[in-house]
Amino acid sequence: VFVVYGTTVYDDSEALGTVFVYRDMTREYELDQMKSELVSTVSHELRTPLSSVLGFTELLLNRELKPERQKRYLTTIHKEAKRLTNLINDFLDLQRMESGSQPYTMEDVRMEELVMDVLGQFRHEENHRLSFADTSVSTLVEADKERLQQVLTNLISNAIKFSPGGGDVVVQMENSTGALHVSVKDEGLGIPEHAKASLFQKFQRVDEDDRQNIGGTGLGLAICREIIERHGGRIWVESEPGEGSVFTFRLPLKHPAGQGAPVSAPAG
Ligand code: ADP
Repeated sequence: VFVVYGTTVYDDSEALGTVFVYRDMTREYELDQMKSELVSTVSHELRTPLSSVLGFTELLLNRELKPERQKRYLTTIHKEAKRLTNLINDFLDLQRMESGSQPYTMEDVRMEELVMDVLGQFRHEENHRLSFADTSVSTLVEADKERLQQVLTNLISNAIKFSPGGGDVVVQMENSTGALHVSVKDEGLGIPEHAKASLFQKFQRVDEDDRQNIGGTGLGLAICREIIERHGGRIWVESEPGEGSVFTFRLPLKHPAGQGAPVSAPAG
């Protein structure tokens, strides 16, 4: 986005020419965009939990309530406050990543270990059966471990969240020329065709009846994309509405096969 300022230069009354000054306004334009996105998120996403917090605290303060009821209201307040915290954290996180103010700490990461770690976080999940299908041969990538964990956690949380009827959630891992593919497959609501293209953009949620009551910020997948692309990879989705979804990311291997590096360290 450019803004052009033009000034005609005169010598006495004779016009010598016009000087144009170009100013790149891309950054300002992006900031404006971000501000208006923030404003619309504030009005939709922040207002709902805040009015619920206000409503329930007023009830608790002004009425004599039985302990069970008090507990129920406090649980709701806690849940809504948590939702607000998540939204704010996600938003700031993404902003920091986009502005590059948070450097990535790259190290050697064995992807199967990372997957096992993240799956461990979901060991108390009761309504879904989580499993790991690994057919990969080499899995060494150079990555920021915490960021990749964040991607996988987001994808598995979504798989669970958008499969309200339960079902299998499978993390699959395989090699593909010079790269590692990791996917998270569920048997949930799926994604309508028209929503797929913009799904990885900020604040994009799917506006369908089947998920009106499922909370979220529309930032999770934007964060995933930002992280994966910073690793030189790519992320995409395949899905059949009503059947389920498969989110896959692809990362370059540290030692692609055939380039002389060992798959495992030599003995001794
Ligand atoms: P959020 O989950 O906070 O809404 P995301 O960016 O993680 O935001 O996801 C954006 C939208 O994509 C979700 O609102 C949901 O409609 C859809 N979506 C994401 N993951 C899945 C999934 N596994 N199955 C069905 N829909 C999904």
